[in-house]
Order: sequence, then structure tokens, then C-alpha cells
Amino acid sequence: METKTNLKNLNFKELEDFVIKNNLPKFRAKQIAKWLYNKKVDSFDQMTDLSKAVREQLKEKAEITSLKLATYEISEEDGSIKFLWKLKDGHTIETVLIQERNHKTLCISTQVGCAVGCKFCFTTKDGLIRNLETPEIIDQYIEVQRFIGNTPENRISNVVYMGMGEPLANYDNVKKSVQIFTDDKMLGLSNRKITISSSGIIHQIEKMYNDPDFPQVKLAVSLNASNQKQREYLMPISQTNTIEDLMKTLDKIPFKQGFRIMLEYVLIKGVNDSEEDAHRLGKLISRNRKKYKVNLIPFNPFPGTEFQRPTEKDVLRFEKILWKYNITVIVRWSKGKDISAACGQLRKKEIENQKIMIT
Ligand code: SF4
Repeated sequence: METKTNLKNLNFKELEDFVIKNNLPKFRAKQIAKWLYNKKVDSFDQMTDLSKAVREQLKEKAEITSLKLATYEISEEDGSIKFLWKLKDGHTIETVLIQERNHKTLCISTQVGCAVGCKFCFTTKDGLIRNLETPEIIDQYIEVQRFIGNTPENRISNVVYMGMGEPLANYDNVKKSVQIFTDDKMLGLSNRKITISSSGIIHQIEKMYNDPDFPQVKLAVSLNASNQKQREYLMPISQTNTIEDLMKTLDKIPFKQGFRIMLEYVLIKGVNDSEEDAHRLGKLISRNRKKYKVNLIPFNPFPGTEFQRPTEKDVLRFEKILWKYNITVIVRWSKGKDISAACGQLRKKEIENQKIMIT
């Protein structure tokens, strides 16, 4: 039997090729994209401006997939919602909706688990299980939008690739998903409202910037240290992607207004939060400071971790030192601390629950 084409695997050009190959006029691609991404339907029967014959033809050749909601938690503190989705092979992934005063941001996952092994991260505990496919990335957005209501006032305007996984280790699927997110005929989000957060895999960052088909979006890089020894301890990936080479690569990326690089720094008590660290970080960035913003993230403890969250006073002291170097700093106090806040925690909780139910 011929395998059906998953329509959410196609960027707009590929969708046009698909309709032409199936002897349909080219404009059908626009109609189909409108139903999938604007109306967010999950069946061909809902595409009411296509004739019954066309819908039947599409059913034979193509499929529309969706994600199954396993569970969700709503934070009473700030309204953020953490979703757990069940994939077709039984694995689960998380997505978080962050509700700011005037916009909504979705934090999406790109892999089941992660191979990078950052010491402060819960997701990586069981290693990498697999990459997500493009539809599984895109559907996190579509399903959450449906969940909160697909209306203009509820529109999720920002997407951050900061959930489970290293996005640039799943390059092709992430690239395709960004094409679908930013195409006006598809999800139509602004390029400036999308951020890819990487642990700093140098050759993949270079590949992305040299790839003419990768729509330009914002880049965030997990720095988390002010020198090589410290970074190697927190992020083993730094053994081969040294802090010096990483900063050289980032320094070379041409500056573009509205696309400053976000350097993320998880502050861990007694590990990387001293005054000395703040000064070293300040010096490291100040030579090119206009190009960067620093995002300070006080560590969010999870069960079994050896690390602690610094006090608010210590976080603010660190921030003030960076100001002295005229660096733009934002402190990201974690959202949803009353729900399973660390990335991967809700997933783990659900797996444990299932084990209890089975035994
Ligand atoms: S912080 Fe990101 S890159 Fe590092 S192990 Fe966790 S998911 Fe992977």
C-alpha cells in the first residue's frame, strides 16, 4: 500500500508540488494550507470549500495528524500551562504556554529526551530517545492554540525552541517547522517572534546561518559559565565546543537589528554565581556587547539534583555587575513554579505514575 503524505511535513512549495502531482490546480495548496494552519482543522471533511471528490482524493493520498493530550497542569501562580502529549509510538513530550500580560509564548520540544547532558537539566537524565518529526513540532503549536481557543485575541504570537531537546541536533525537522511557522500562507508568525535555543553546537550554528533556506529567526545560546573549566563541568558538550570558539563564532555572525543573540545563563548557587563570575562574563561579552542580551535564569531545582537556586539578593547582585559593563540583562524568574516546572518533569511524573499503575 502506498504511504500517505503527512501534509504537515510539507513547506508551502512542497505542498504546491504535492497538489500538482495529484493533478489538482496549484491554488488548492493555498486552500489546504488555510484549513490546516488558519482554521486548524484535523480532517479533510472540514475543508468545506473543496468538493467532495477532491476531499476523497486527498483522503486517499494524504493524512492529517494530531497530538493526543495525555495531561496538563495550570499554574495558579501565573497562569502558565504545561501540556504533556502522547506520540503515536507511546513516548511523551512537553510544551509550555507562558501567558504574559500582552502576549502568549509557547515553549516547544524538538526531541524526546536529549543527548547533550547538561548537568543542571532534568530532560537529559534518560538520554536521547528520538528526534521529533516536523508535524510533531508544529502540532504542539496547533493543539495548544486549539486548547485555548483559535481566536485572534488568544493568538500565540511567540515560539521558543527551548523545551526538551537540542533543536540544532534535529536540524532538518526544525528547519522545516520554522519554514511552516514563518510562511504567511501557513502559520504566519513573525521571524522576530521565534527563538531557537541551542546548547552551542558550533558547526550546526554555522550551518544554520549559511543555509539560505533556513528562515532567519532569533538565536539563544546556553552559555551558563564564564570560563572553559566551569562550562565543561556544567555542559560536557563544551569539551569539543569550547567557550572561546563558541564566542568567536557568535561574534562573527553579522549584527542585525531586532535579532540580537540571547546568551542564557542558568545561575546556580555556589557554582557560577559569584562576583568574580559576573565580572568575567561582563568582560567576555563587553567587546561585542551590542550584539548580545544576557538572560539570567535562577536555577529551578528538581528532585534528585545536587544544585541549589541562588537567593534573590545574589541574582540581583550578579545583574548589577553586568550593568557596569553596559550589558543588557534580563532576569527570567521561572514561570509556573507551583507546577512541574523543570523541563521534562511532568513527563517523568507521568511515566512514574504509569509504572505504579502497572505494578
Ligand atoms: S538544557 Fe537543553 S541541551 Fe542541555 S541537556 Fe537539557 S534539553 Fe539538552
